[in-house]
Amino acid sequence: MDLVDADQSTRRRRGLLIVLSSPSGAGKTTISRMLLESDPEISMSVSATTRPMRPGEVDGVDYHFVDDAQFDQMIAAGEFVEWAPVFGYRYGTPKNPVKASLKKGRDILFDIDWQGARQLEPDFGEHLVTIFLLPPSLTELERRLRARSTDSEQVIADRMRRAADEISHWAEYEYVLVNDDMDACLRKVRAIVTAERSKRTSQIELNAFVRDLIGPQH
Ligand code: 5GP
Repeated sequence: MDLVDADQSTRRRRGLLIVLSSPSGAGKTTISRMLLESDPEISMSVSATTRPMRPGEVDGVDYHFVDDAQFDQMIAAGEFVEWAPVFGYRYGTPKNPVKASLKKGRDILFDIDWQGARQLEPDFGEHLVTIFLLPPSLTELERRLRARSTDSEQVIADRMRRAADEISHWAEYEYVLVNDDMDACLRKVRAIVTAERSKRTSQIELNAFVRDLIGPQH
């Protein structure tokens, strides 16, 4: 997909598309928030969803909350880079912010599931960094879901059943971290981002740098 700025010389480096997946309750939201607060070069992708808004959520910040007809229209208009059904609702990643970030050589963070990560791979493979967060145990996962208490018992039971399904896709990810300590986990995520940025320093800029370093004759 041609979403990358044609004028590559204006870019310092390639933007990363950082996918952070995990079952609900494994700490993904907290890690995402801490990563965004600590790194101004990363912005969050705000998905569209047909799921009803939960207490405390803000439209346009947590999600773009849309109805089924609007979601259908967005699919038809090609507005998503990926979308998937999750827990009986549909979720999709809007294309325009991805396009804008890649043009500016900025990074974008996605809180999407394995279905989304899989769909991004063919078009954005060279920008994609996929990270899966595992909870330390299913007991701890359930404790965290209950402590959050925004979901009904039935939803919690449903999410516990689906957690195992979601975890079964761990091997499709480049990086898999066990989130038993938030700060340690954040440090690892930041280390991954730093390493991946170094890998993707713009070829054009490196060419110029190496030419200055050793001269054009090499
Ligand atoms: P929740 O309803 O708890 O906010 O999210 C449920 C699941 O949907 C999470 O695993 C989350 O990662 C996933 N999700 C959220 N937005 C998207 C999206 O745009 N695309 C895909 N494929 N999954 C999403």
